[in-house]
Amino acid sequence: MKESFIPVTSIASGIGLEVMPDLYYFPVQIVNVIFAGTQDEWVLIDAGMPKTADKITEEAEKRFGEGTRPRAIILTHGHFDHTGALKELVERWKVPVYAHILELPYLTGKKDYPEPDSSVGGGLVSGMSPMFPTEPLHLENDVSPLPEDGTVPFMSGWRWIHTPGHTPGHVSFYRESDASLIAGDAFVTVQQESLYKVMTQKQEISGPPKYLTTDWDAAYESVRKLNDLNPHLAVTGHGLPMAGQLLGTSLKRLADRLYDLAVPAHGKYVDRDD
Ligand SMILES: [Zn+2]
Ligand SMILES: [Zn+2]
Repeated sequence: MKESFIPVTSIASGIGLEVMPDLYYFPVQIVNVIFAGTQDEWVLIDAGMPKTADKITEEAEKRFGEGTRPRAIILTHGHFDHTGALKELVERWKVPVYAHILELPYLTGKKDYPEPDSSVGGGLVSGMSPMFPTEPLHLENDVSPLPEDGTVPFMSGWRWIHTPGHTPGHVSFYRESDASLIAGDAFVTVQQESLYKVMTQKQEISGPPKYLTTDWDAAYESVRKLNDLNPHLAVTGHGLPMAGQLLGTSLKRLADRLYDLAVPAHGKYVDRDD
């Protein structure tokens, strides 16, 4: 895999936040990872940007104690900014990785993600997307499909929800008891295509990051599916956590009008008549 270090960071980078007693979000450069669970049993959701394994480990030890290890690493999807430190963390912690079965080809060297569409969105992050690596990981012996019954390993009370569009095997995680949602990139709370907004983490709900989303019809269905759950709290792959009324109204607005608000008017993964 091509090594790449993206020289950007957000204001919130490095400052973690406990959004629920057993849900901790930690921004690493432009992307979030999540520690779900308690000291006795926790999992890492997503694995951050390339070369951030030490940062993630350090933060985990700060929270759970020296030598702590998650029971598993569970992926919302396999894009490089969510799997950058994955290989190193798996070697270090010797833990299993779970992802949706449709995402496995991208994690085991069988398929490459399509080239990012750098023509959409306009902002600097979009402009940088050609330098994002799309070569697949080779996790043949370490990655398993999520259980078919919708449960999530080592995360009791949670279920995974297939939310394709951004990638074919994208999943979100939902806990009914407190209406908590881990949305990955199904929607995000910062306009990821704009470097300024990423840097300042201006809170603004937005569709999936445009430059990497390939199936907008599926992405739309996925946003509607998540809106129907009526989440009280959402931690997304990019941007700050969002909760309560602000989340409710913004997510509903996005679900009602994704095509106007989030789908680029032009681009190689868009086929629109208007
Ligand atoms: Zn992504
Ligand atoms: Zn992402």
